[in-house]
Amino acid sequence: MADSGSNTQSPHIALFPSSGMGHLTPFLRLAATLSKQNFQVTVITFHPTVSFAESKLLSSFFSAFPQITSKEFHLLPFDPSTVNSKDPFFLKFEAIRCSAPLLSPLLTSLSPPVSALITDITLASSFLPITSNLHLPNHILFTSSAKMLAFCSYYPSLVDTNTNSIKISEQFEIPGLSTIPKAWIPPLLLDLTNLFATQFLENGRKIIESNGVLINTFNSLEPESLKALNEGKVIKGLPPIIPIGPLVPCDFEKGSPLKWLDDQPEGSVVYVSFGSRTAMSRVQIRELGVGLVKSGCRFVWVVKDSKVDKEDEEDLEVILGKGYVEEVKNKGLVMKGWVDQEEVLSHQAVSGFVSHCGWNSVSEAAWHGVRMLAWPQHGDQMINADVVRKSGLGMWVESWIGGNLVKGEEIGEKIKELMEDEGLRLKTTHVREEARKAVGIGGSSEVGLLKLRKNLEPI
Ligand code: UDP
Ligand code: UDP
Repeated sequence: MADSGSNTQSPHIALFPSSGMGHLTPFLRLAATLSKQNFQVTVITFHPTVSFAESKLLSSFFSAFPQITSKEFHLLPFDPSTVNSKDPFFLKFEAIRCSAPLLSPLLTSLSPPVSALITDITLASSFLPITSNLHLPNHILFTSSAKMLAFCSYYPSLVDTNTNSIKISEQFEIPGLSTIPKAWIPPLLLDLTNLFATQFLENGRKIIESNGVLINTFNSLEPESLKALNEGKVIKGLPPIIPIGPLVPCDFEKGSPLKWLDDQPEGSVVYVSFGSRTAMSRVQIRELGVGLVKSGCRFVWVVKDSKVDKEDEEDLEVILGKGYVEEVKNKGLVMKGWVDQEEVLSHQAVSGFVSHCGWNSVSEAAWHGVRMLAWPQHGDQMINADVVRKSGLGMWVESWIGGNLVKGEEIGEKIKELMEDEGLRLKTTHVREEARKAVGIGGSSEVGLLKLRKNLEPI
């Protein structure tokens, strides 16, 4: 199948993103990049998406790129009560995974014949056997950090197969990487009966069967992890790990501009957002509100108190208490709902970012040289926060993890420190320069994409 295109025709690549903005966004950015480089591109989608944000992004993407084919993958009926999870995103991963038998007819129906599939890591173990039967190259796009990829590849080695449990000490080593405390591991991964852990384990085991792993990072952001992965230190037999980041935000993602920012002095604003699917407890949200006032800084704050935007209906007044928004209006803009993060991070008024450290947010902060105060909550966020700290992109108050209430006083002090730290400002400027070099001529992203093209050329 892979050989059926002629030598002169550009390769036809199909991309299969998974559920959630953190997965969809980098996939669509990659699809846009490949299309601009004259690959023929098909993006495979499923319906319904979990969030409004996903369906909205897909429709602006396909309007902006009429040359990219949209192909719908039909999902087989799936009974969520058969698995141990209530998370709507993980349930969607599973519904797609269980529909894998439908992938083969879909891929063989594509015209011209497809040369390769790029699969989200969350779907890898169910899709790799299908593409292998079709003799179709299958690359994974890993949507988190290289450090997280190292953990994902190594995770199967932590399973005690006799007891089917995870054996992990308070501090543990992944070969080639510095020590990792157990507290940084996504808590769900400590319980192998959980759906997320089952998927994570199966996907981790199958990475070695893929033709390569594309990853949204760049060498100078994560030198240690990329080296360890590619030198075979983490586990033996990994395919090439190809850094193609930072995947740069595109015009199709644009939302309405925040005029408020235009009236703020250069570098004076801290942006506070915890991404598309991380909600905080209401009591912690209020302490954060106190902290922002105490910091004395100007701020744009996106308040989120439910995981899925479709359920995000509560008024700001109820969440923050009566009067808060009005009281802070001279210094702060408090919002709910979707904000064009690219617009905020690229604005000259913004120089700081209090973030949960979703990997796309880290990558976008690196791209704009906006210094971060990492406040990871769960999942891959602690491991990503360590990358933020080590790379010079920001600071991380590690004692804030674990779910204990962090008081407004302390939050305010740290935000002030973030905004006043001249050393950090210089370091983040350097990270930004390196990010720009990575996507420039001869940079690691260009080299990575050339490698992908070479992998797909008929032999
Ligand atoms: N995002 C945005 N506006 C919002 C919330 C999120 O533009 O109000 C974007 C953000 O720029 C990033 C993605 O959504 O590209 C979220 O991905 P990330 O990996 O940072 O976090 P997740 O939402 O997956 O936890
Ligand atoms: N992940 C993985 N294998 C899986 C599921 C997830 O390696 O089977 C990684 C993936 O890169 C993701 C991270 O774990 O970035 C956390 O997953 P989740 O979807 O919860 O987070 P999100 O990407 O939405 O922040």
